[in-house]
Amino acid sequence: MFEPSYDRYSRPLPGAFGRERKILSVRSPQRLKLNFNSQTMKDILKDLQDIAGTRARASYSERLCYATDASQVEGLPDYVVRPGSTQEVSRILRLCHEMEVFVTARGAGTGLSGGASPVRGGVVLDMSGMNRILEMDLPNLQVIVEPGVVHEELNRRLSSHGFFFPPDPGSSAMCTIGGMISNNASGMRSVKYGTTRQYVLDLTVVLADGRIINTGSRVLKSSAGYDLTRLFVGAEGTLGVITRAGLRVVPVPRSRKLVLAAFPDAETAGRAVQEVFSAGITPSACEILDHITLQVLKRCDPGLKLPDRGDVILFEVDGTESSTLESARQIAGVCRPRATRIDIAGSKDEMDHLWAARRLVGAAISRLDPNKSRIYVGEDVGVPIREIPELLRKVQGIVNKLGLPAMKYGHIGDGNLHVALFIDPCDPEDRQKALQAADSIHRAALELGGTVSSEHGIGLARAQYMKDQVGESLTVMRAVKKALDEKGILNPGKLGL
Ligand SMILES: Cc1cc2nc3c(=O)[nH]c(=O)nc-3n(C[C@H](O)[C@H](O)[C@H](O)COP(=O)(O)OP(=O)(O)OC[C@H]3O[C@@H](n4cnc5c(N)ncnc54)[C@H](O)[C@@H]3O)c2cc1C
Repeated sequence: MFEPSYDRYSRPLPGAFGRERKILSVRSPQRLKLNFNSQTMKDILKDLQDIAGTRARASYSERLCYATDASQVEGLPDYVVRPGSTQEVSRILRLCHEMEVFVTARGAGTGLSGGASPVRGGVVLDMSGMNRILEMDLPNLQVIVEPGVVHEELNRRLSSHGFFFPPDPGSSAMCTIGGMISNNASGMRSVKYGTTRQYVLDLTVVLADGRIINTGSRVLKSSAGYDLTRLFVGAEGTLGVITRAGLRVVPVPRSRKLVLAAFPDAETAGRAVQEVFSAGITPSACEILDHITLQVLKRCDPGLKLPDRGDVILFEVDGTESSTLESARQIAGVCRPRATRIDIAGSKDEMDHLWAARRLVGAAISRLDPNKSRIYVGEDVGVPIREIPELLRKVQGIVNKLGLPAMKYGHIGDGNLHVALFIDPCDPEDRQKALQAADSIHRAALELGGTVSSEHGIGLARAQYMKDQVGESLTVMRAVKKALDEKGILNPGKLGL
């Protein structure tokens, strides 16, 4: 069991250079002032401004804006810099390396594990301003982008040419390509199309000491040496700062169909998913919305055409008109013996309506109980497909035992389940229960041969599970980190390194 307190996020961490840095709560401005090291700040701010001009800042309000991502992990940076080019990033890192100042890269800050939270202070590099699509090389099935390009914008531009970049996180309208690469993000369509990792061909990366490297090339395949591109995917900004990416893109499928199947309970829904895969059908999306999620969605928008009861699986198939029709009918046939309701949506409007409902989950979560101030702690575990029913059974048992309200939803087709646990943040008993539940859910996933994070990353929130997750490989990861970032200045405290 990890520490039985939410203060796991606000305990002192040993500084890399003998300094003790405190992770501070953004809700206590007096404590925040303690993080202000005016002597260092003055010196480095001038150097940073020599490189980035007024895009290097250190005002209290500016720093406060970068104190957290979309998780509850918090820390106050000493400086915020918005670089405009690879050369600027290189000069900033060379300076920070020399001065032994921590650096945390940040995209849009939508991460859910504290990856972009500067838990030991130092510089936050806001990469969102480097947001140009540099080249659409469609005959080569690729695009070259800067890391700050927002995912939805990239796909909007690609769609007019009949292409798309398949990984599709729920945060598509906000998250950046740099953040997606660094977290190996994925989403609803990863069940068929895979994760970000499968689409990164080449990266320009600035290393901790300011050196600039290219990890790949323009070709669609290469067997020249170590695959450094993959090393930086999912590295959460601990090995280098990405300043340019070459991405593979694919043609937009001609037809899509959506099957909505409702089941008496989540475990039965999980079994149906298994049976669909065993029948040799690969959906392009396969999402679960449990009965509590359905209730919450309906409270948010009573007009949603979702079943009133049961646990729902949304299966999407894509391909040609005839192949999608055949696959949709096959899925309906496999589900029918267990399902309480089955609908096939074929029109664009019907499908858009159902996917809009699925995308509403993040926002609808606050409606669980409009009369109570509650926050949710989202978990991101994943298991092999055959273990899905067992994971659903275990999670239900855990939340029932602790009496915590919880929504279960997510990309169940690739074994990924999000569990939103609701707590009153002012109630110590509630906080304790949430920690117990989260710990039990993580342990259950590990026991089933799964992962503590399918797509949201480790950050600080899940760092304590890294040893159990990867075993001796953690020693190898630490050696790689040491080789590339000897002084440990890049995103300290993350990934359990
Ligand atoms: C409502 C909501 C829904 C979500 N749904 C999904 C989902 O379906 N699937 C999914 O995978 N995730 C999801 N997420 C999580 C999150 O959006 C993704 O992980 C996303 O890829 C993070 O992108 P970002 O630009 O916000 O990165 P940030 O949060 O800013 O950073 C994420 C990590 O990347 C590092 N980083 C950022 N830019 C760089 C760079 N240029 N070089 C090196 N390191 C860098 C940071 O240091 C940090 O460790 C969701 C989040 C929210 C709030």
